[in-house]
Amino acid sequence: MEHLQHVDGTRRAGRGEVLEVLDPATGAVVTTGTAATAEDVADAVTSAAAAFRGWARTTPAARGEVLARAAVLMQERAEEFVTAESAQTGKPLRLAREFDVPGSIDNVVFFAGAARHLEGKAAAEYSGDHTSYVRREPLGVVGSIAPWNYPLQMAAWKVLPAIAAGNTIVLKPAENTPLTALLLAEVFTAAGLPDGVFNVVTGTGPVAGEALVGDPRVVMSSFTGSTAVGRRVMEIAARTGSRVHLELGGKAPFVVFDDADLEAAAQGAVAGSLINTGQDCTAATRAYVQRPLFDAFVARVAELMDGVRVGLPTDSTTDLGPLIHHRQRDRVAAVVERAVAAGAKALAGGVVPATAADGTDLSAGAFYRPTLLVGAAQDSEVVQEEVFGPVLVALPFDTDDEGIDLANDTPYGLAASAWTTNVYRSLRASAELQAGCVWINDHVPIVSEMPHGGVKASGFGKDMSAYSFEEYTTVKHVMLDRTGVARKEWHRTVFS
Ligand code: NAD
Repeated sequence: MEHLQHVDGTRRAGRGEVLEVLDPATGAVVTTGTAATAEDVADAVTSAAAAFRGWARTTPAARGEVLARAAVLMQERAEEFVTAESAQTGKPLRLAREFDVPGSIDNVVFFAGAARHLEGKAAAEYSGDHTSYVRREPLGVVGSIAPWNYPLQMAAWKVLPAIAAGNTIVLKPAENTPLTALLLAEVFTAAGLPDGVFNVVTGTGPVAGEALVGDPRVVMSSFTGSTAVGRRVMEIAARTGSRVHLELGGKAPFVVFDDADLEAAAQGAVAGSLINTGQDCTAATRAYVQRPLFDAFVARVAELMDGVRVGLPTDSTTDLGPLIHHRQRDRVAAVVERAVAAGAKALAGGVVPATAADGTDLSAGAFYRPTLLVGAAQDSEVVQEEVFGPVLVALPFDTDDEGIDLANDTPYGLAASAWTTNVYRSLRASAELQAGCVWINDHVPIVSEMPHGGVKASGFGKDMSAYSFEEYTTVKHVMLDRTGVARKEWHRTVFS
């Protein structure tokens, strides 16, 4: 049994049910441990509350130094992070090694510097009789809840701006993917982060998640996950009136205008829809293609998808690993089946593969072939709802207005892309697509310096970048009298 809680600087067992971390590619047990109960969560919050005053008083430079040391330690232990991330999620080692782990280390490096750049309005004599200035202060104990699709990156996005700004945190990773969040906490403890500043509670959403959000000592809940659970978090937070930051689901459109570079768009659609086996909140899910390019686009995307190698994450030739578990795979397969029953056609995929290209048996894993659907209706389930799997649906459009209107016609607004060689079209698309991020002629890349977050049903608030400090700090106005006069001019309102 592995200890799956990191409370007050130490690993310990939870007092709840037994949890198994399973390898989605083989079904093998990666590790077992015990879940956090509400009491375990309360202990972690107590530890975070006790650590807050000391951590908030440290200088930005001191906080930055701890983060910088953590970045070095993460780099030294990068392969450990890669192996754990791949084992618990099924993502190919190549993806974990080239994307998840270096991306997270870069986040740490960014926040080591950003910790020293908290900004505010310039101090000034706005009333004439006072000097006003703004203090940007940490909030207190932050409760964060993360999903299973990018366990390390999501943990990093939550923890780094919170602690860089002087807060303390209790992070609840998804109960099936706690390993890299625990490693991250271990690295931060080794880097000199005081005990209690960063705690990890591994447990289920209804037990540990709700206890965390509902704890009156938690002043902010930062949640990444599905829209339905995000709304539940908001409801619970409303009871204590605490702040919420929600990074929720997505259904990103991929709009291809008729002047686009067809080959670039086709390559981009395959990479953008299949990243992380499509379990990416920003993944391209709906390709809207202007009619003159539609047939050639779908033919090329189908051809490229057919060439994608589905296989074991440990095989260096594998392009696409399994979904997170069989439940998710079966859910994806059922959405595709319903779409086909309603008249859509699969030009690629739509099947569960029995073996990899080299004959390796894949039957124990949650695998699904990359899938391209055409002929689905705009108001159908597969176009409107998050599938969270390697499924792209393509629809034609005629006028530019129609393309943009269809792209905006879902409840979500996390990310979008437009493909065009016309500068005016690109400017229009970047302004009119309703999303927290719009790419032009690419889809998926992210950088630590730029904000990530959605609009509409995709939530509000920003991860990464200096904008994240807006979520994890509050601005306090300090106003100093500069007259030294006992009866001040404005007292006339009282003394007449
Ligand atoms: P999920 O909402 O089921 O779970 C997310 C987290 O919430 C998990 O830790 C889970 O244990 C916890 N949880 C579940 N029920 C809870 C409850 N009642 N109270 C408190 N916590 C609870 O999501 P998931 O299936 O793990 O992740 C996939 C979802 O996450 C997708 O919808 C995806 O789009 C979204 N996502 C969004 C972003 C973003 O930046 N917007 C990034 C990654 C994933």
